[in-house]
Amino acid sequence: MNPPAPPREPVDDANTATRPRPPSVDRLLAHPDAIDLQQRHGRQPVLLALRARLDELRARDTRDPSDFEPPRLLAGVRSRLERDAAPRLQRVFNLTGTVLHTNLGRAPLPAEAVNAAALAAAGSCNLEFDLGRGRRGDRDDLINDLIRELTGAEAATVVNNNAAAVLLALNTLALRKEVVISRGELVEIGGAFRIPEVMSRAGCRLVEVGATNRTHARDFEAAIGPRTRLFMKAHTSNYAIEGFTAAVAENTLARIAHDHGLPFMIDLGSGTFVDLAQWGLPHEPTVQEALRNGADVVTFSGDKLLGGPQAGLIVGRADLIARIKKNPLKRALRVDKMTLAALEAVLRIYRDPDRLTQRLTTLRLLTRPQAEIQVLAKRLQPLLATAFGERFTVTLQACASQIGSGALPVDRLPSAALVLRPHRSGRGSGTALKRLERELRDLPSPVIGRVHDGALWLDLRCLEDETGFAAQLAGAEAPRP
Ligand SMILES: *Cc1c(COP(=O)(O)O)cnc(C)c1O
Repeated sequence: MNPPAPPREPVDDANTATRPRPPSVDRLLAHPDAIDLQQRHGRQPVLLALRARLDELRARDTRDPSDFEPPRLLAGVRSRLERDAAPRLQRVFNLTGTVLHTNLGRAPLPAEAVNAAALAAAGSCNLEFDLGRGRRGDRDDLINDLIRELTGAEAATVVNNNAAAVLLALNTLALRKEVVISRGELVEIGGAFRIPEVMSRAGCRLVEVGATNRTHARDFEAAIGPRTRLFMKAHTSNYAIEGFTAAVAENTLARIAHDHGLPFMIDLGSGTFVDLAQWGLPHEPTVQEALRNGADVVTFSGDKLLGGPQAGLIVGRADLIARIKKNPLKRALRVDKMTLAALEAVLRIYRDPDRLTQRLTTLRLLTRPQAEIQVLAKRLQPLLATAFGERFTVTLQACASQIGSGALPVDRLPSAALVLRPHRSGRGSGTALKRLERELRDLPSPVIGRVHDGALWLDLRCLEDETGFAAQLAGAEAPRP
């Protein structure tokens, strides 16, 4: 049994005389300032914030009667409400130099995709309704024709991300059976996606062949047994093995698999539809190449090089895609109308390859010429010097951006950065940098850079909203208390 609760407001407390009595909640709510707050935020949030503020003052055991004067008390409530009303998910400036930054939301969507997603979100749509026949439809039909046209695949289906695509394909094609893969491809992608673990969660038995650096066709042939159901190749997207290496060509793997009646699946990771080499970027295997080399199923991400929303695409042979779509897991991994709307819009942009580098945001950022970034940096340098010049030297330096998201890890894109280096070197400069990073994160649109070599580097490759960036710098020199 709990002891009875003490009376809330002891009448005879010796301190009562010195402790100010807060006004009643009802009286506070009737105050003009509180009425204004209620119109803005609603009655319930104001009531909660008011109670929280009163509890805070009581806990502090304040003796200052002015703390309880309604205007002062309600000002505290106001700032609490404003803080709580700010969305947690905020737009940030990604000046890290990594274009497809997983922690910063990967691919920025082109306007067409944003509009399509908003339209789908705001009302009803024919997500699973065949408007031609007036009956139930299939959500994958929204993008099927586009994928077929763009990649030459017979069929396609879309799930939540590429990790889901791999899981679903493996679970469908080789449940309780064996999947043969090279030892050199047992990759771990950031965020605990490891091929061996996905394989076991998918209910498949991994049969690894060859050595880390070298795998031969005979290794695959020797691994085939009565329980083999699939050959798999994973694109080693986030690292490179160099030196004495050998991998089996995709078309050879496909031939061996097909000779034994087995399907061949390629996890491309960051799949793309276009040869990036045409813009001087490093070549990344395309979905079409994978299919042409004989892959029966190809999986790839929607929000890496493709430049679309988070999604996992599975494309390939119609009979295998049909089986994958019948797997009950598909229902658990399917995408919503906003994703499909954005994906469809992005796929449509690929139908016009000549203007891809203008219209597809990811590709526009990746192909942005260094000279253009330098000109932008020159324009912004004086602004940063004005805002931070008292504590930091601001210089313009050449740097190298990264594609990110595991794509093409060894290749760098020539870029330009504004570099903020503390005037005082040595002790205290680390603190100065930490403080600067904090100030930039506290801006209305937080700015995220990269600390390297005792300075903060702001790689301007991904800065397109120059006006918005410049506008908020004006207030940056006065750090918030
Ligand atoms: C990125 C990647 C994945 C995971 O894709 P998500 O879309 O992030 O789930 C899987 N396999 C490879 C090879 C990848 O590069």
